[in-house]
Amino acid sequence: MAAERDRPLSRLLGASSAKKIRDSLGLETAGELLDYFPRRYVQRGELTPIALLPLDEDVTLIARVVRAATRRMATRKGSITEVLVSDGFGDHGADTISLTFFNAFQASRQLAPGTVAMFSGRVGRYKGKLQLTNPDYVLLDPEDSAEGTPEELAARPIPVYSATAKLTTWQIERAVKTLLSQLDLGTLEDPLPEALRQKYRLPGLADAYRLIHEPATQEACMLARRRFQYEEALVLQSALARRRIQHAQLPSRPSPARRGGLLDAFDAQLPFELTEGQRSVGEELAAELAAPHPMNRLLQGEVGSGKTVVALRAMLQVVDDGGQAALLAPTEVLAGQHYESIRRTLGPLAREGLLGASDGVEVVLLTGSQSAGERKRALLAAASGQAGIVVGTHALLSEAVQFADLGLVVVDEQHRFGVEQRDALRAKSLATPHLLVMTATPIPRTVAMTVFGDLETSVLRELPAGRAPIATHVVGLVENPSWEQRIWARAREEVDAGRQVYVVCPQIGESSEEGQEEGDLAALDAATWGGTALADGASAPPPAASVAGTMEQLAGEAALEGVRLGMLHGRMDTADKSASMESFAAGRTDVLVATTVVEVGVDVPNATLMVILDADRFGIAQLHQLRGRVGRGGHPGTCLLVTALEPGHPSRARLDAVAASTDGFVLAQKDLEQRREGDILGATQSGRRSTLRLLRVLRDAEVIERARGDALGLVAEDPGLDRQPALRAAIDEYLGPDKEVFLERG
Ligand code: ADP
Ligand code: MG
Repeated sequence: MAAERDRPLSRLLGASSAKKIRDSLGLETAGELLDYFPRRYVQRGELTPIALLPLDEDVTLIARVVRAATRRMATRKGSITEVLVSDGFGDHGADTISLTFFNAFQASRQLAPGTVAMFSGRVGRYKGKLQLTNPDYVLLDPEDSAEGTPEELAARPIPVYSATAKLTTWQIERAVKTLLSQLDLGTLEDPLPEALRQKYRLPGLADAYRLIHEPATQEACMLARRRFQYEEALVLQSALARRRIQHAQLPSRPSPARRGGLLDAFDAQLPFELTEGQRSVGEELAAELAAPHPMNRLLQGEVGSGKTVVALRAMLQVVDDGGQAALLAPTEVLAGQHYESIRRTLGPLAREGLLGASDGVEVVLLTGSQSAGERKRALLAAASGQAGIVVGTHALLSEAVQFADLGLVVVDEQHRFGVEQRDALRAKSLATPHLLVMTATPIPRTVAMTVFGDLETSVLRELPAGRAPIATHVVGLVENPSWEQRIWARAREEVDAGRQVYVVCPQIGESSEEGQEEGDLAALDAATWGGTALADGASAPPPAASVAGTMEQLAGEAALEGVRLGMLHGRMDTADKSASMESFAAGRTDVLVATTVVEVGVDVPNATLMVILDADRFGIAQLHQLRGRVGRGGHPGTCLLVTALEPGHPSRARLDAVAASTDGFVLAQKDLEQRREGDILGATQSGRRSTLRLLRVLRDAEVIERARGDALGLVAEDPGLDRQPALRAAIDEYLGPDKEVFLERG
């Protein structure tokens, strides 16, 4: 009976417990509760360090009663019981917490000095001291428990479940115990293939559920956790492997390279030599474009590593064969830049929209803010096939956009795009177009394996020769208030030398309402990469430097007198944005005050200094991307990370890390280590079967690698997983309709 998992808790536990569990945890079936694993375990003998209890949070602790007293309340009817409990660490003052019970006759009897109990409640503060008010508790004296010798009891871990104010961990524990005794666990289908289970000596599913919920020893619960971790990795990797194989079987338009075409002409006129990486990735792409099945590739490369040329060469190969290519950029500014730079790079090979012209390729731009006339022309060029390369933003995805023969889709800076967008573009063509996703965000190997497991990856590791290194310095205004003056004097020196300067601010306007870039950029990145603005959660940080405020300040700055200032942010209307960008690109603006819109792809080779104000508001990866905007023209670049935080503040460690290394992969690793890993996938971690439950992509790299190899083996032999119905079912359940999205999200 596969239905064992689906049995409603209301039948198994009784209506009132089931309702509590549903209301508090959202769990309704036997399977869901079985999969609600303990968050941790405590040992009867081990008391919880009280000094470490967080204020205002629900906690579960084991402690020993030091003294207890009950008295009548002075002003009201009833009694108050005060119990002082200790963790026995002898850590003066910090090793006790007081518990206050109102009218609790039972507590006053049960909690005698010397008693050890597990308490659960919210940590509050009363007259400067930590306390729990009316906590729930269970006594842990061995004599109270019937089963087992005192030794066995002492060894037996007590599961601690994520609880809520209304549902304590031991209520959950009791419900799970009841469930385990009611269910016929033997009928549950094990998603782990027997052979793999034996290979790694992992317990079967029924045993593993018992071990994880009611372990007799520490070793038992570790073993169960190992099994579920591996299962999770295998399910996920099998899903990715299956997807990859299925996708690779779809038909696509083969576009073999043609001699004497546009690509050859382009190569002949390139003003520089391709780097070794550009050349070898280029060969990889050329071969895949020539195949009758779709390419599905992720191209990772440092900022400035020259991904655009690689993509453009792939596009030309498709155009040479009579097909079309689309380039999708995350912002209008970037789409406009790509359009301009592609036309510039193509030079005479970029054909104007003249019918009858023979050589060259027509490149068109399609964005949401074009005039109706421009838009109509671009749409027509795409639909008629006259345009070989169509550059655009999300506007490319709208239904109005049609292609005559779309052969290749290039997505720049993938982390701004979701799976829906990718699929929408693919749907614009009968055969599946080849897909090239480019990202400058360095992704550690196991993360790539987990998040982009269905894409093949290529990496551009080297920067083109002649690229001057970027020097990065942390400017701490707390230690050196006078440095603020020095920053602007430094900017002046650059301008006097004929160079240009970026000043990046975390916010657009002064009020926090008009704070961050609209949804897409700063906020998203802070959430994805752990900038303090969101990472520190509850406590609102002081307002950060804004574009508006900084413009005003710089206009009055003596050192910058006569310097031409410009600004750029996402709330400006498109014409102003383009004008501002063009002016900076053309050298008519010396100092550009901007938000993170300059982060992605913006290319002004003459810019040599970047000043990032309140740099602690940004995440590591974002800072690294930002600074890649300077030093692109052969002049050495400098990046100043300005902060008003004290030295030693945890957020300053991020700045120090960025200053210490220019290797994006090293930084990405640091970034992951510094924050909770679960966040990479953007999913909130709950105890439920959600995205990654027990797996952590860094910590469990080995398990993931192993599972990936096993999954590839399984799927290669049996692409439909027909011989592994339980694994297949687990994949479907794991992914669900909404989870498929997560598989492709970056
Ligand atoms: P990114 O990988 O950040 O998108 P781009 O493609 O924008 O990098 O390239 C950055 C700059 O380097 C561009 O101005 C481009 O013309 C130049 N470039 C690309 N490849 C080479 C090369 N092999 N040698 C010299 N310059 C190059
Ligand atoms: Mg780029």
